[in-house]
Amino acid sequence: MQGVERKSGSLTSLREGNRNRVIGALRERGVASRAELARLTGLSRSTVSTIVGDLLDAGLAGERDGQPDGEVHAGRPPVMVALNRSAGVALGLDFGHRHLRVAVADLSHTVLAEAWCELDVDHSATEGLDRAAEFVDRVLAEAGAERSHVIGATMGLPAPIDRVSDSVQESSILPGWVGVDAAGEASRRLGLPVEVDNDANLGALAEFTWGAAKGRSEVVYLKVSSGIGAGLISGGKLQHGVSGTAGEVGHMVIANGGPVCRCGNRGCLEAVASARAVADLLASSRREPVSTQQLLELSAAGDAASQRLIADAGRAIGIAVASLCNILNPQTVVVGGDLAAAGDVLLEPMRDVVRRMALPTAVADVQIVAAVLGDRAEMLGALALVMHESDRFAQAGMGAAA
Ligand SMILES: [Zn+2]
Repeated sequence: MQGVERKSGSLTSLREGNRNRVIGALRERGVASRAELARLTGLSRSTVSTIVGDLLDAGLAGERDGQPDGEVHAGRPPVMVALNRSAGVALGLDFGHRHLRVAVADLSHTVLAEAWCELDVDHSATEGLDRAAEFVDRVLAEAGAERSHVIGATMGLPAPIDRVSDSVQESSILPGWVGVDAAGEASRRLGLPVEVDNDANLGALAEFTWGAAKGRSEVVYLKVSSGIGAGLISGGKLQHGVSGTAGEVGHMVIANGGPVCRCGNRGCLEAVASARAVADLLASSRREPVSTQQLLELSAAGDAASQRLIADAGRAIGIAVASLCNILNPQTVVVGGDLAAAGDVLLEPMRDVVRRMALPTAVADVQIVAAVLGDRAEMLGALALVMHESDRFAQAGMGAAA
């Protein structure tokens, strides 16, 4: 862009570095005041004002009215800044056991268009990616966005993903994808830089960016569906661990000698308290098949056995959450996934166990709350990952703001 002199290499790279810090902070926050940008980047107010002025002049950012998060101003609210669509757009894709969702958003965190369809339970990766390619074209056209403006795409899969090989690990939930180099295949098929992450991590990022944990920096997100997984946010950053398995709480042993888990161990949290495990327990007492949906409907209608089994699951999950609180000392524990629809029938027993089992100082201020983004969480998290982890897309041909 204009205004950056290229006389001195070190001065130029310093300016570019500062500009990238401001752009990075804008991507993460969506909308921010100049004062917030100074605080987030550690740059002076005058440096931030100069950089924002350059971005406005270049048409990459715009101003709007608003109130920054968590700040109360006595006088006139400060002018807020956000990146324009010409600075790039993000794509989010979410593959579930039997669905696909695709959305495009601008870097002010506004969803511009989204599409959804059902997929065959045992769909292959190739079939899934064919539909995804179709949907990407559709949402970009609907949003009036150019493909060349896409700064990155994230694809969510409900399976463990090896971060070294990017391949999908053994999964009973997504059998048609096992062994596939998901990011590589998707990048080739879509002609875009694609990153892959698992559903619990993306749910965590979504609730942190838009939902129940907005404005918090220490967050545990639990997804309680057919499996149980956690997404961990520490210092405002999603934690993956070395190979990407951080947060696999579903395989914490809760009941020694308990039911056999799909991982081969016994008494794992997932084998005791997943939506599937609870529905199966009810099915054996009723001597008829029970789906997760039926379990939730029975509970909502006051069925004692259903409520008792969901409460027991809440207590089992509470044991794991108490340990997580001792280790991570979060501000907020957000509970999402299918079973979270049971509300306080699940959450109250969980809170009770956490209060009894965790160190009092570790849970003095913790809030255990239901997720608010429902079944759009993973898709929104996929968008959020493009905004929060722009360095993961740095090697690819980025949009105008790179
Ligand atoms: Zn297990």
